[in-house]
Amino acid sequence: MDQMANELAQFSQVETWVPLKNMTTLRIGGRAHYVCYPENTVALDSIMKMIEKAGLPYKMFGKGSNLLCSDDDFEGVVIRLDRHFNDFYFKGTTVIAQAGCSIIVLANECMKNGLSGLEFASGIPATVGGTAYMNAGAYKSSMSDVIDSVFIYRNGRFEWIPVSECEYSYRTSVFQKQPDWIIIAVRMQLKQGDPDEIRDLMERRRERRMSSQPLDKPSCGSVFHNPENVPAWKLIEGIGYRGHRVGGAKVSEKHVNFIVNEDHANAEDFLSLVTEIQQKVKEQYGVDLHMEVEKFNWR
Ligand SMILES: Cc1cc2nc3c(=O)[nH]c(=O)nc-3n(C[C@H](O)[C@H](O)[C@H](O)COP(=O)(O)OP(=O)(O)OC[C@H]3O[C@@H](n4cnc5c(N)ncnc54)[C@H](O)[C@@H]3O)c2cc1C
Repeated sequence: MDQMANELAQFSQVETWVPLKNMTTLRIGGRAHYVCYPENTVALDSIMKMIEKAGLPYKMFGKGSNLLCSDDDFEGVVIRLDRHFNDFYFKGTTVIAQAGCSIIVLANECMKNGLSGLEFASGIPATVGGTAYMNAGAYKSSMSDVIDSVFIYRNGRFEWIPVSECEYSYRTSVFQKQPDWIIIAVRMQLKQGDPDEIRDLMERRRERRMSSQPLDKPSCGSVFHNPENVPAWKLIEGIGYRGHRVGGAKVSEKHVNFIVNEDHANAEDFLSLVTEIQQKVKEQYGVDLHMEVEKFNWR
């Protein structure tokens, strides 16, 4: 361990030179020089000050389910909250969950407690922080429907901000414009519901995902945003790209808005395939397809 790692280790568990492919659902990426898991808010505050003093870049990671990391090493610090910030509690129909908590675990606990509202999220392989950042959604619902306020760290201070300041719309939020802000916890307002009915709905959604998504292969979910008037999959289907492959990256046969890591794909394979699809769709339909998956650590 080098000096920086030793310093970070005063406040968190630290790992060095960790393959990003082990931290992303797509299983692609170079290595991160430092990965740290702060144990509490005091430790997080100290770590952020240390990183600032050292002039290092940093990046929050949830479950890495929406990240396309380059094949290069990241000479900075990846911060993960999923080891120590994964608590949640209920008070009536209010749910407060820390950012590192799995949204799948949380949706299941809500169901057991007869709380309805997170059924849509019960199959998203993500953290609460990542879903609040992305305004993740499915089946015409999204996080912004249930979020009441978000506890953040910005400019060296912890504070609650109301949902009205989160600038939520389709898969976007203020957090995407403010990459220095860290989401620490989220407060949600759910509704009282019948646990059996909630379980049935979640089960139906699970079956739908199983039958329509390539969950047996590494992916990052839907690659492209749906343009306003037409779903992205129709355009990709229209250019004849079902099953199309570049290197180890392949348009899923099962769901054409998924690109799967079929066989040791690298980041260039994935991005080349994305670019080809964007060009063909533009030529054929005049539509710009925008990536939903976020590129990280590209020069
Ligand atoms: C099989 C599969 C199915 C999927 N289905 C859906 C779906 O139905 N609907 C949907 O919307 N998405 C879906 N996704 C995409 C993905 O799960 C979501 O975008 C999710 O919100 C990403 O969360 P994450 O915790 O993995 O975040 P990551 O991918 O790790 O990070 C995403 C962004 O959030 C930021 N971030 C994460 N945590 C914090 C924090 N605490 N503070 C500040 N910033 C933070 C990161 O820096 C990064 O910019 C799917 C993905 C897969 C692989």
